[in-house]
Amino acid sequence: MAEKIIIIGSGPAGWTAAIYAARANLNPIVYEGEPSNIMVPGGQLMYTTEVENYPGFPSGIQGTEMMDLFKQQSKRFDTQIFTEDITSVDFSSHPFQLKTSENNDVEALSVVIATGARANWLDLPNEQRLAHSGGGVSACAICDGALPAYRDKVLVVVGGGDSAIEEGLYLTKFASKVILVHRRDELRASPIMQERAIANAKIEFKWNSIVVDVLGDKLISGVRLQSTINKEESDLDCGGLFIAIGHTPNTTFLNGNVELDEKGFIGTRRSWRTATSVEGVFAAGDVMDPYYKQAVTAAGTGCMAALEAERWLTHKGLV
Ligand code: NAP
Repeated sequence: MAEKIIIIGSGPAGWTAAIYAARANLNPIVYEGEPSNIMVPGGQLMYTTEVENYPGFPSGIQGTEMMDLFKQQSKRFDTQIFTEDITSVDFSSHPFQLKTSENNDVEALSVVIATGARANWLDLPNEQRLAHSGGGVSACAICDGALPAYRDKVLVVVGGGDSAIEEGLYLTKFASKVILVHRRDELRASPIMQERAIANAKIEFKWNSIVVDVLGDKLISGVRLQSTINKEESDLDCGGLFIAIGHTPNTTFLNGNVELDEKGFIGTRRSWRTATSVEGVFAAGDVMDPYYKQAVTAAGTGCMAALEAERWLTHKGLV
């Protein structure tokens, strides 16, 4: 028998969709994903230390604890949870067919895709070590930049796109100085963002440079730069490193079943809606949002996806 709704993914979007779907008596099933070296159930918040900007937690909360609370809340309404990945889907006929990493076949009347996106990293061993230990390396300035550890420090941002500029500008509120390290001598960011960065006295640029190592034991003390012109290396002292080199949405398993945009994010048919190119399939959270990328916006779209799925199922007479 086909499940009424299957939710793929277990970040704020997935759990919020589950809470709404469960309270609408849709008996949701969540495939929370298998832990791997690139993703864990709970998604990007599992790599975040303190979350200070999610409303309702006036003293802040650890990302891992927050995801556990989301999960507990969805369980309270009898959501069924499987710690498996969905490895492939077939949305060409209805009910939809899904295959799990344990090789089980599942049928669904509606699907919410909430598999998130992963921040791109430089993939340097010390970068990863300090990012996971809360040692001053982050891929989200908006999430972490206001933490006391970064106050009045020299902060380095890597990247040359709109995110790098936006994050750099945001960090100037707290930092003594922000140094933007970019691998070319020209920014990819939109002209208006470039103008703002250049006009900001707290921002400096290191052009034609890449970070080849992150220095420091428990806390970051600096970065090693290499010139992309002559390969010369130099050390730069800093108290924080923010990587802003884009995100990769987790959409490979969809294998052409849903329309994606040019960067692989799921396109929705209308703005402010979560319906995808396939009727009955909805998308929520960072997998469909390259723009806001916040826990609270992901949770919001998770709610929207569950409501849209419920309305669609009712409209089609399927529940
Ligand atoms: P992006 O536009 O893809 O820019 C990524 C940047 O990272 C590029 O400058 C790229 O360098 C650099 N980069 C990529 N891989 C690298 C590596 N391995 N080492 C060093 N540098 C690397 O990504 P984004 O800035 O996250 O923006 C994503 C989308 O959101 C864009 O469409 C953007 O316009 C939009 N956005 C808009 C706003 C706004 O309007 N306020 C704010 C944020 C994001 P190259 O330039 O050399 O390729």
